Amino acid sequence: MRYIGIKIPAACSRLYNRGALLHTRYMRLTILGSGTSHGIPVIGCRCRVCCSPDPRNQRMRSSLYIEGWAGERAVIDTGPEFRLQAIRAGITKLDGVFLTHAHADHVHGLDDLRPLCFENPIPVYGNPHTLEELGERFSYVFKDTQKGGGKPRITPIAASQPIPIGSITVTPIPVKHGILDILGWKISEQPGVTAVYLTDTSNIPDASLQLIHRPEVAVIGGLRVRPHETHFSFLEALEAAVRIRAQRIYLTHICHDHSHQEIEEFCRRFQEEQGITGPVQPAYDGLELIL
Ligand SMILES: [Zn+2]
Ligand SMILES: [Zn+2]
Ligand SMILES: [Zn+2]
Repeated sequence: MRYIGIKIPAACSRLYNRGALLHTRYMRLTILGSGTSHGIPVIGCRCRVCCSPDPRNQRMRSSLYIEGWAGERAVIDTGPEFRLQAIRAGITKLDGVFLTHAHADHVHGLDDLRPLCFENPIPVYGNPHTLEELGERFSYVFKDTQKGGGKPRITPIAASQPIPIGSITVTPIPVKHGILDILGWKISEQPGVTAVYLTDTSNIPDASLQLIHRPEVAVIGGLRVRPHETHFSFLEALEAAVRIRAQRIYLTHICHDHSHQEIEEFCRRFQEEQGITGPVQPAYDGLELIL
């Protein structure tokens, strides 16, 4: 029998693959953004990373899209580029939004949830401090003062326990961001496939280390080589991922000090020194991880 080759345009083949996933028991994580608070390129910066034509050096603000095999959809954080990220990833519904903390680079795209909550309000999970901050920044959403204009229909919910969303369970993981108490999130899909997302982290308390032991994937914030008061450096992030015995490690929330290629090299050396077999890599916008 002869087969006739049909070339599927890139955009169609992507949609085709996305559809196919629904029939298999896999969870897909998509890095919507991998950049630090100002995004890369930084406005007005002429450095070699900000001017690089390599798309992996263009980092929108950090966020993760979660797709469960049974059709569950969720995001972690809604930064200033959320609208662009949602269009790029083909997001058409969300069953939940999980916030790490209320810094501008993680929540100021929240209003762009509007088209996704026409039918039902979207639950937005965070720790009590994050939700309190949300109430101040987005007072028009929660108070009856705004006349005209649209508002996102969201339901803030303080998260202290694992949250089931269909086949996925999302568990809050308390971590430190400098002196701030924020949340990382553990994403588990039955039967026992687990990823952890820890951004803007400078310390993981012992009690939280217990909760995230041996994940298949760790997406972890590493700002740059130089140390920072409120963020892990690359080395600190990689060492933390090794401490929890992550099988696949991806750095995110990256600044413009280093190109993607340089960070790949940094990760490769670390991998060799530590004798790690699984991938150790910088994340980039659009990277898809199948679990
Ligand atoms: Zn941040
Ligand atoms: Zn720059
Ligand atoms: Zn932050």
